[in-house]
Amino acid sequence: MKITGECFCGDIKYEVNGALRDARSCHCSRCRKAFSAQASAYALVDAETFTWLSGKGLLTSYVGSHGFGLQFCSQCGSTLCGIYNDVIHGVTLGCVNDDPKIELGRHIYVGSKASWEVMPEGVTQFLEGAPENT
Ligand SMILES: [Zn+2]
Ligand SMILES: [Zn+2]
Repeated sequence: MKITGECFCGDIKYEVNGALRDARSCHCSRCRKAFSAQASAYALVDAETFTWLSGKGLLTSYVGSHGFGLQFCSQCGSTLCGIYNDVIHGVTLGCVNDDPKIELGRHIYVGSKASWEVMPEGVTQFLEGAPENT
């Protein structure tokens, strides 16, 4: 399947020729800052299936500890993807267009969620990382 994504201003676009995997939402305080939201919404992608279609020159990277980083649009601020040692690791679900045929399978680090966040009922949640956390 083909999945496309783009940032808020639309100048950066990408395509995934394949499926997204392991969609998860992390509610830790670091993800709240990194994703400017109550939690992350992120899915893994195989690097060989991922292609930038436009606007790659507008990408800015912030690489944190352990070589993991995020890439975002320097124009509009949308966070588009995660990188690990300069290789694409996953995409933020908020920037995916249409239906990527995947749902958030687990909510992790719910034990450190923001006081103002109300968890939806019925979701699979873990106070810390999931046992099979990848
Ligand atoms: Zn943008
Ligand atoms: Zn987190």
